[in-house]
Amino acid sequence: MGKVKYYYDSETLSYRKIKRRKRTTLKYAAVFLVAAAIFGFLFVFIASQYIESPKERQMTRELQNMQLQYELLNKRMDDAIAALENVEERDNAIYRLYFEANPIPEEQRRAGFGGINRYKKYEGFDNSQLISESNKRLDILEKAIVVQSKSLDEIAKLAEDKEKFLSAIPAIQPVNNIDLTRMASGYGFRTDPFTKVRKFHFGMDFTAPRGTPVYASGDGIVKRADNSSTGYGKHIRIDHGFGYVSLYAHLYKYNVRVNQRVKRGDLIGFVGSTGRSEAPHLHYEIFKDGNRINPINFYYGNLSAEEYSKLLEKASLENQSLD
Ligand SMILES: [Zn+2]
Repeated sequence: MGKVKYYYDSETLSYRKIKRRKRTTLKYAAVFLVAAAIFGFLFVFIASQYIESPKERQMTRELQNMQLQYELLNKRMDDAIAALENVEERDNAIYRLYFEANPIPEEQRRAGFGGINRYKKYEGFDNSQLISESNKRLDILEKAIVVQSKSLDEIAKLAEDKEKFLSAIPAIQPVNNIDLTRMASGYGFRTDPFTKVRKFHFGMDFTAPRGTPVYASGDGIVKRADNSSTGYGKHIRIDHGFGYVSLYAHLYKYNVRVNQRVKRGDLIGFVGSTGRSEAPHLHYEIFKDGNRINPINFYYGNLSAEEYSKLLEKASLENQSLD
């Protein structure tokens, strides 16, 4: 309740109550409220510059925690990159070397990280450095993993080819050791059994009784099984792929047909003395890229070290071939 005020009315010669108008009261109240609001707002604003609210304290803690987690993540990414580098090193130095593939150069494994700044979008904040560092590490890691993965795909393919290659090339003696009566002649200069002239003998002769089984020395496809090549009589040629062909001559009988696919060790025919031959024997040749090479280097599949050195000794004797 405010004070009651009076004024002297000279007309009625009496004191009369001053009546305050309602509008004036409202104006005073409004001015007071606005002033209080401005003052209160200023106070809170100034105070907040110096005093952290509980929510701010919590956010600061969260931010610190996030920075710490980022640093830990960066460290773990470094470890992952180091582990991958180890794999890359083995890839270059062992796997690719073993399969005769060129090592992948460092520039290719780390390609695409120079030039433009792809981390610009992270700039302008207190933690920019930390965030772009993490992104950069992860990018390097991702790229290196892709390159490594492709390299391993290539090696898997090479390994598969190597396996095919190993089962394809001629690698066993085409006649069993127990079936041999004696090794007649090897690759090199020998006396011709018919003309007695010294001439080059391009294969190896395995002496064995007529009808002795002859085996394919590697996987391949029968390209010929006929007697229309001069001197060889009934003979078989197997194409092994990779430039290798093996030839089995003077056969008594065939056990395969042209275009038949054979595996190493398959029975393909029988020893005979057809064509230019003096006695029953198998004349065996190996071609590489069209040239005849010494078959002595292709028996590692089924001979012991001792058997092999005996064979080597006999094959190198300069005797008379059976042709
Ligand atoms: Zn021969």
